[in-house]
Amino acid sequence: MTSFSYAANPVRVVFGSLDTLGDEAGRLGLERVLLIGRPRHADRAAAVLGPRLAARFDDPAMHTPVEVTERALKVVAEHDVDGVVAIGGGSATGLAKAIALHTDLPQLIVPTTYAGSELTSVLGQTADGRKTTRKTPKVRPEAVLYDVGLTLELPVAISAASGLNALAHAVEATYAPDANPMTDLLAAEAKRLLMNALPRVAADPSDVDARADMLRGAWLAGSCLDAVTMGPHHELCHHLGGKFGLPHAETHAVLLPYVMAHQGLADANDVFDLAASLPIPHSLAELGLTEADLDGEPELLRQALHGTRPAAPPSLKALTKQVVDSFAGAP
Ligand code: NAD
Repeated sequence: MTSFSYAANPVRVVFGSLDTLGDEAGRLGLERVLLIGRPRHADRAAAVLGPRLAARFDDPAMHTPVEVTERALKVVAEHDVDGVVAIGGGSATGLAKAIALHTDLPQLIVPTTYAGSELTSVLGQTADGRKTTRKTPKVRPEAVLYDVGLTLELPVAISAASGLNALAHAVEATYAPDANPMTDLLAAEAKRLLMNALPRVAADPSDVDARADMLRGAWLAGSCLDAVTMGPHHELCHHLGGKFGLPHAETHAVLLPYVMAHQGLADANDVFDLAASLPIPHSLAELGLTEADLDGEPELLRQALHGTRPAAPPSLKALTKQVVDSFAGAP
């Protein structure tokens, strides 16, 4: 029997309505909440929180810049806050996690994209143009409230890129050195939900069932990613994202089929075809990179530069034939 270990991380997950946000905050004992999020969604959250709302922070930024966190920490101190509610994509969640890292305040997250950060103990932050990532239970949110209604207006292009970001979490869990029967289950179901729902959302962004499948997939994908060690896909995305300031979800979306092919995953071609059918960037060149930028970088990034179909890794049969042929030619 193969040895493995698995620990279920304690996050309360609710699929329901934003109208229960006050009750969820009450469950955590929060009386003086800092609400993070852009007005589009945060105005409604503020109304639901009512007297529990102590302060607001409207402009979280992608990749969690430390100067934004410092500004938010001042608001926390000035208003004697006892918990953080974030509503929005991974940028809003990232700021809540950064605040928790410094203060240990409990977090309640209402995700509006498929980033999955709300389930992980991972925080990526940027300072002086460099992104660093750390993993600690201190930043893992206490509770997550998913309301599919909040995602219906997420533009198709952002939905598609964010959905492939979620898919990347599930894929990375399948070949992680510490994958186990539980993460295999989570990853397989997340892949099934996301690959099936992505084309439906692209065809009709207001399809509630497809949107619900996307959120469920994002939840399962984030959960399994948190239970394993992140691998080459995330390393490459963080490396390129930090070096060239690339957008997070789009970078994942472009690189995923190439990393899958490189890892020998049979469904790399299916993911390439799926991505090709979606209205998102399909190459690193479309994200602004040039040949010169990729000097000295791994071969798979050069394939991704122009968005050509990833070269399939040699099959076992082809490898065997190569070995047999090499012996046949030997004296
Ligand atoms: P994002 O949060 O920046 O959102 C992308 C854009 O979509 C923003 O302009 C936002 O205002 C808009 N938006 C979000 N929800 C919307 C909705 N429902 N309707 C209309 N517009 C909406 O981007 P993201 O891809 O969700 O998150 C990226 C960030 O999350 C990065 O900083 C990344 O590092 C982080 N992240 C962290 C983890 C982790 O585990 N630590 C995992 C994934 C992503």
